[in-house]
Amino acid sequence: MVARHDLTTDEELKAQLLLVRRGTAFWSRKVNELTDDELDGPTLLPGWTRRHLIAHVGYNARALTRLVQWANTGVETPMYSSPAARNAEIAYGATLPPRALRHLNDHAAVSLNVEWRDTPDPAWAHEVRTAQGRTVPAMETVWMRNREVWLHAVDLNNGARFADVPTEVLARLLREITNAWAARGTDPGLRIQVDGSPVLDELGAGAGRECGPVVRGDLAAVVQWASGRGGHRLREGADVLAPRWL
Ligand code: ZN
Repeated sequence: MVARHDLTTDEELKAQLLLVRRGTAFWSRKVNELTDDELDGPTLLPGWTRRHLIAHVGYNARALTRLVQWANTGVETPMYSSPAARNAEIAYGATLPPRALRHLNDHAAVSLNVEWRDTPDPAWAHEVRTAQGRTVPAMETVWMRNREVWLHAVDLNNGARFADVPTEVLARLLREITNAWAARGTDPGLRIQVDGSPVLDELGAGAGRECGPVVRGDLAAVVQWASGRGGHRLREGADVLAPRWL
C-alpha cells in the first residue's frame, strides 16, 4: 500500500518538505494568476518568456523526480541526458498550448511530491549526481527544489517579491551564493551586511576588514542583489556589481 504521509522520520527533512510544499503552492498560485495571453509576457530572466520559465520549472520537477527514483532503485537516471537536451526540452515546452503547459507544471509537481513522500529514510542518504556534476545525498533534491520554486516565483514577474520568500530560504541561499563566490575566488573583497539579522554575520571575502565595497540592506534586498536580480532595494552598494552565481 502506498503511504499517504512522508515515510521519513527525520524532523529536519520533514520541515524542508513542508517548506517546499509551501513554495510549490506559492509558485503554482502565481502561475494560475496569469491569463493564457499573459504566458507570453517577459520574466526577470533575460530571453525567457513565462512559457519558458514554466516549462523549465516543470521539467526541473521531472529531473529531480529522476534523481529521487535513482536513490530509491539504485538505477542511475540522470537529471538530463545533456545540457543541450535540457535546453531543447525547455524550448519545446515553451511552445505547448496553455492547457498542456499548465498540466505539465501541475503533474510534474505532484509526481515529485509522491516520489519524496514514498522515499524511506535509508534512501534519502543515497548519493545521486546533479546536472552540475555534484554528488549529493537524495535529500539535497528538497533544497534544490525549494530554491527553484521560491526564486522562480519572483522571476515570473507578476507580483511575487523576495520579501515573500521565507527567511530560512533566503539565508541559506545567501550562504550558498557567497560560498560559491569564495570557492571560485570571484568575490572582489565584498563586505555584505544584512540589516536586522541576528543569524548572519558580515559575509563576503572582505568580511571583518575595514576596506572593500560594502553592500547593505535587509535580507530580501541582499539576496535579490546577490542572485543577480538587481540592487535597487539595497540601502548601500546599489551600484556594486554582484559576481556571477551560477
Ligand atoms: Zn531554475
